[in-house]
Amino acid sequence: MRIAEALGRGRPCFSFEFFPPKSAEATGALLSTIDELRELKPTFVSVTYGAGGSTRDLTLDLVRRIKRERGLEAMAHLTCVGHSRAEIARILDDHRDAGVENVIALRGDPPRGETVFRPAPDGFAHASDLVAFIRQCGHSFCLAAACYPEGHIECGDRNVDLENLRTKVRAGVDFIITQLFFDNAFYFDFVSRARAVGIDVAIIPGIMPITNVDQVERFSKLCGATIPMRLALELERRRTDPEAVAELGVAMATLQCAELLDRGAPGIHFYTLNKSPATRMILTALQARSR
Ligand code: FAD
Repeated sequence: MRIAEALGRGRPCFSFEFFPPKSAEATGALLSTIDELRELKPTFVSVTYGAGGSTRDLTLDLVRRIKRERGLEAMAHLTCVGHSRAEIARILDDHRDAGVENVIALRGDPPRGETVFRPAPDGFAHASDLVAFIRQCGHSFCLAAACYPEGHIECGDRNVDLENLRTKVRAGVDFIITQLFFDNAFYFDFVSRARAVGIDVAIIPGIMPITNVDQVERFSKLCGATIPMRLALELERRRTDPEAVAELGVAMATLQCAELLDRGAPGIHFYTLNKSPATRMILTALQARSR
């Protein structure tokens, strides 16, 4: 199933993001997580692509297994990091041969410790180049891309970032998924600015339920997401009480998702971090509400 088609059906599209585990044991645990979440009938799940090393091959393996063994639609993430055009061409052929229909085309982050992204020799500098290449190769994948309600961390000007996004979408993107954010005002403002410059594809908000204070602080810093002052204070009060943090995280994310859906978001993409309980609680509440 091409995800863009599901997005056009007028029902909210719910999806879960996972990363490929490094060991067979962790893969088993992830497949159990996926089984627990499968009952919620997600529209699709997605599997991230590592910055390098052996987990990269695991992305396609896991996508294939989720599709075949679990009967769920699965989208493969793919980045430009370290790949030449010829390698990307081979990877894309492997995806096509494995029956993958949905791919999210990304640039990827600079390696740890570096602040500037350097394309691989004969590789791509921007995700838009990857998207254009995929289309030039004649692939018919349904293509997604990333977007940033608060602006991408490397781009000092949100309007320039939006122009770059428009170029990316025009290169052949079918829908976009946002970076995580905690204040819905960023999403609504971003959607109206995107529409104003002619970006007309579905914009799925990406939501990460907070389960750990240190972790959310680290992630937010890395991607430039703002933790609103009120939320930061509530998290600080619970810092040493993991259960209280998880409760607050579920409650906040449920409210956040409910407002997003009520005000027209086409669905929610959950950054699950390979864990099921928080996402299950939030989505169960959202689905019960809409019946
Ligand atoms: P781009 O669209 O190329 O944008 C990157 C920067 O370049 C932006 O500042 C943009 O404004 C600028 N830019 C774009 N085009 C141009 C141009 N033509 N000229 C000048 N500047 C330009 N990372 C992983 O490693 N693996 C994953 O699986 C993964 N999955 C992700 C999924 C989602 C939904 C999101 C939101 C992010 C994901 N990331 C992943 C992180 C992503 O790789 C980083 O955020 C990365 O820094 C940017 O990737 P991009 O595809 O948005 O890049």
